[in-house]
Amino acid sequence: MRLWLPLRPFALLLLLCFPSRAAEPVWRYAVALQSGGLELKIEATFAPGLTDEFSVDSGAEPYLRDVEVLRGGNWQPQPLTRDAWYLAEAPRREVRLRYRFLLDAAARGLWNRELVADRGGLVLAAPSAFLLRPWRSGRGLTASIRFATPLGSSVLCGIFQASNGAHIIDAEDLENAPAAAFGTFRTLRLETGDGVVEAAVPPAFATALDGPLRAWILGAMTSIRGVAGRFPVPRAALFLLPSTRGRGVVFGSTGGRGGSAVTILAAADLKAADLRDDWVLTHEFIHLCVPTLDRRHAWFTEGLATYLEPLARAKQGLVTQEKLWAGFIKNLPEGLPQPGDRGLDQTPTWGRTYWGGALFCLVADLEIRKATGNRQGLEDAVKALVAAGATKAVAMELKEALRIADRGLERPVLMRLYLQWADSPVQVDLEALWDELGVKQEGGAVRLDASAPGAVLWRRR
Ligand SMILES: [Zn+2]
Repeated sequence: MRLWLPLRPFALLLLLCFPSRAAEPVWRYAVALQSGGLELKIEATFAPGLTDEFSVDSGAEPYLRDVEVLRGGNWQPQPLTRDAWYLAEAPRREVRLRYRFLLDAAARGLWNRELVADRGGLVLAAPSAFLLRPWRSGRGLTASIRFATPLGSSVLCGIFQASNGAHIIDAEDLENAPAAAFGTFRTLRLETGDGVVEAAVPPAFATALDGPLRAWILGAMTSIRGVAGRFPVPRAALFLLPSTRGRGVVFGSTGGRGGSAVTILAAADLKAADLRDDWVLTHEFIHLCVPTLDRRHAWFTEGLATYLEPLARAKQGLVTQEKLWAGFIKNLPEGLPQPGDRGLDQTPTWGRTYWGGALFCLVADLEIRKATGNRQGLEDAVKALVAAGATKAVAMELKEALRIADRGLERPVLMRLYLQWADSPVQVDLEALWDELGVKQEGGAVRLDASAPGAVLWRRR
């Protein structure tokens, strides 16, 4: 999803409620990619008690063909009526249906490229575009999806997977589920003991790059453990897409309910050196550590990733403290409130979203460290979120997330700061802040003074 500046990563933000507990699946889908990759054949079974109106995302209806329902042992054609299929028996009886989804035609013809698009060798499709489902009937129900592919083709879906290979999701979350990729790509699987990343790598990227890609992904997974205590989700899908513009790693985005999917756009002539210097993947993985929030709180999601990413990489020795602080000194002024600012929740400019959010996080981190004699930092708030399962895969109110984050701290800080910063422009004297931190720009270089009172922020990282 691309907003504001094209080179900035952006998280898919949605407002919905907490998913209910997983139960035995009562909606079952079998999705088979057909040879040639042009279409999907889908069979689905639904337990009774649903509305009679079945559909897919708006605009995707014309790409469903030959919808048939099993009645009395016979498959009967079910016509499309305006933008839905009406199955009179659904409230009373189990429904079995089957249809074709014209994947390739949808990738070429759908106006909404967020739903289905051919992205340089792999087709990315939102499950909500191709899974026919009863309208507003998913609350409290569980759906399972099984994919099958012909020899030589692959599928990778961001929805969480059970040990038997089925993708399991709260039926209600299907509306916003992470994408599935279909095509002739190779899959790299990286495991750290507490999390798995599976990456779809299309042929546009040379196989010689697989080693560096593995090191890149593992490095970012390790960085995240320094911030979150563990990899935040059991499994994340990573879609690597070739970009016709830009050099190296160009852009990232993260999304998904009931799963996790990170999309990275990169130049097809990507080099190992580009991957070594990359910060985007660590930034996106930090997004996985925070629940899906309402769009007006994008500053919290982006600020946390903008602030913690260089710290996480510095811990691994990938960035020096001097370079890290030079970046903050250069960029944090962008996050200061400008005339007309109405606080972080109500000023969705690029500067306030990324660097205003980062400034909030820096101030919070310093408060936490001062209050605890450097025993704790902002990472402990993130660890509390991840430990509570309040990750990208679930949607939550920001205040609820802050309550959970504050519970990880000896003294709560975040909610109090949020109430100050949310609806009014809080000014920060950056020069005074650099003095307190012992971070000084001298000529082109940054000098660090470990005797400064606020040096706890960068010492012993
Ligand atoms: Zn981001």
